[in-house]
Amino acid sequence: MIVVIKNDSNPKQMDNLVKWIKNQGLRINLSKGENTTVMGLIGDTSKVDIDLLSSLDIVESVKRIQEPYKNANRKLHPEDTIIEVGGHKIGGSNFILMAGPCSVESEKQVITIAEAVKKAGASVLRGGAFKPRTSPYAFQGLRESGIDILVKAKKETGMPIVTEIMSEEYLDKFADVDIIQVGARNMQNFELLKALGRTRKPILLKRGLAATIEEWLMSAEYIMSEGNKEVILCERGIRTFEPYTRNTLDLSAIPLLKELTHLPVIVDPSHASGLSRLVAPLSLAAVGAGRDGLIIEVHNDPPHALCDGAQSLRPEQFADLVKRIEVILPLVGKEAIQK
Ligand code: PEP
Ligand code: MN
Repeated sequence: MIVVIKNDSNPKQMDNLVKWIKNQGLRINLSKGENTTVMGLIGDTSKVDIDLLSSLDIVESVKRIQEPYKNANRKLHPEDTIIEVGGHKIGGSNFILMAGPCSVESEKQVITIAEAVKKAGASVLRGGAFKPRTSPYAFQGLRESGIDILVKAKKETGMPIVTEIMSEEYLDKFADVDIIQVGARNMQNFELLKALGRTRKPILLKRGLAATIEEWLMSAEYIMSEGNKEVILCERGIRTFEPYTRNTLDLSAIPLLKELTHLPVIVDPSHASGLSRLVAPLSLAAVGAGRDGLIIEVHNDPPHALCDGAQSLRPEQFADLVKRIEVILPLVGKEAIQK
C-alpha cells in the first residue's frame, strides 16, 4: 500500500502517522523525492482502514499495490535508485561499463585485461572465480585464489570488482569484492538471496535462464526484504526456442523495467548471444533502449580462453565499441561514461 503525503505536512503530523502505521504491525519504506513524499506500507495491509487513512490531514492519496514485489516497485519509490561503487554511480542518468574476462585464469591475464578495459572506458572489472558450469568436468574456476587475484587487480588498477557467488559458505571471501554477482542459475536460490540481503554490498542480480520479469523482481525482493536495498538487475538473455544464439536478449524487458522498478538495470550482451560478433550490435541496442550500463566479456586471447572465448571481445574491439556507445548516450539522456 502506498500513501502519498501532502507537501505542506509538518514533522509532528508525520510522526503521528508513522506511529499509527507501526502500531498496526506494518513496516514503512519512506521515499522523499523532490516533489513528492511517498510512504510504502509493507506487511499485511488487509486490515488497514483505507477510508480513515485517506481522511487524515496530511494524506494526499492512498493506493493498494497489486504487484507482489513491494520494495522493488517503482510505485513505492518513484525516484531511480542510484548505487555508488568505488566513486562511480549506477542508475539515474549515469551510465556504467563493466568488463573483463569470463573467468579469472591467472594474475597476468586479469591485470592485462583490466588495464586494457580501464583505458577504453570501463569502470568496473568483472571476472568469474567461482564458475557455474553446466558440466562438472569443465573448468570450475580458480575459486578462492581467483578472488585473491581480482583483489590484486583492484589494488593495481583502482577498479572496483564484480564477481559471482555460488554459495553463502564463501561469503567471507567476498569482503573486498565491491559488487557480488548472483548468476542466472542461482536467481532463485532463495537462501543465498536472503543471506545477501543481510549484507550491505551491492548485488548484481542476473535474470534466470527462463525467468519471467515478475519472478526476477521477486528475487530482488528477497534481497531487499532482508534490508539490502542495493540491487542492480542484469538482463542476460533468456532461453527461447531459437538455437542460433546462446540465449535471446529480451530487449522489451529493458524499457518495461523502467516502469516497473526504480532499480538500475544493466545488460549483458555476451551471455545473451554467445557470439562475439553480436556483442557490439546488441550493446548498441541496449544503450539505445536507455539503460544504465553494460557488462561485457573481454579476453586478450579469446581462442585460448578457459571459458566463453566465443563470446569474448578482444580489448581493441571493446575500445571501438565504447566509442560508438558514447555517440548514443546523449540521445537517450545519459551522461558521458564515467572513467
Ligand atoms: C557470467 O557472468 O560469467 C555468467 C556465468 O553469467 P550467467 O549467470 O548470466 O550465465
Ligand atoms: Mn561467461
